[in-house]
Amino acid sequence: MKKDVFKISPCFEDIMPQEYIELVRENTSPFDNNQGVNGLGGGKELIEEHPLCAGCGLALSLRMILASLPNPEDTIVVGSTGCSAIAFPQVALHNIHSLFGNQNAVASGLKRALKLRFPEKTKDIVVIAGDGATADIGLDMVMQSWFREENITTIMLDNEAYANTGGQESGMSQKGAVLNMAPTGKKFSKVSLPEIARESGCAYAGAVNPSNIKRFEKMVQRAILVAREIGPSYLQVFAPCPTNYKLRPNETLIKAKSREKDNTYPVKEYISPTAQEFLNKLEEGKHNG
Ligand code: SF4
Repeated sequence: MKKDVFKISPCFEDIMPQEYIELVRENTSPFDNNQGVNGLGGGKELIEEHPLCAGCGLALSLRMILASLPNPEDTIVVGSTGCSAIAFPQVALHNIHSLFGNQNAVASGLKRALKLRFPEKTKDIVVIAGDGATADIGLDMVMQSWFREENITTIMLDNEAYANTGGQESGMSQKGAVLNMAPTGKKFSKVSLPEIARESGCAYAGAVNPSNIKRFEKMVQRAILVAREIGPSYLQVFAPCPTNYKLRPNETLIKAKSREKDNTYPVKEYISPTAQEFLNKLEEGKHNG
């Protein structure tokens, strides 16, 4: 049933790209297997190639988010300007690129329109945008979507910089951070967006990094399921940028782990009582088979 969404019409079979044929072929499609992050590296994925830098924390996190989606074939991803947007054309899901900062307004309209158009179907709308789009330029629209209690998930890929414009500081850079275009160091503290999200009406708000894939998957799924049934959710993912922070590509995860350990980027999770009750029921049901 799931594969019907992507099934190739027989009259187009001879002209479809091999990649697409492999994506929908029996037993290789991520839409069939639903293996989550455990399946990474073992078959076709929703993103397989991308133009981001070697060792990019965004690329790794995006790959893990896509593998964690509870219902990929009925998920629409909304992005915004930034490094992650460059990878969106390679994502095998419906996705929309919005103008810089508009992503939560676009996602809100999309969610409402799809609810009217397909009342019998659940469509998950997941915003995946960078720290500039989420915490700086788009913060107004992000917060307004939380105030309105839109049933959408906002995932921030936080590389703590405007990375693809040469390395300016963002609201999410740490105080004192020195970047190519912030040579004297950032003068104010990192914005505490999970706490702002909690205070602004999010039923679920969290912060995580990609160093523990099962924990990461669980938090992505919680954020999406809570948004589907209860109210807006926010997940902040620390996705280090080796290019602007002058790390070797193999130091990305080391950096993520060390920032968790020294408490400069702790893992956080706030769940409203209603959302907690909902998640308890779901998770109990899963354990009881
Ligand atoms: S500049 Fe940084 S965030 Fe952007 S693609 Fe390269 S490593 Fe990733």
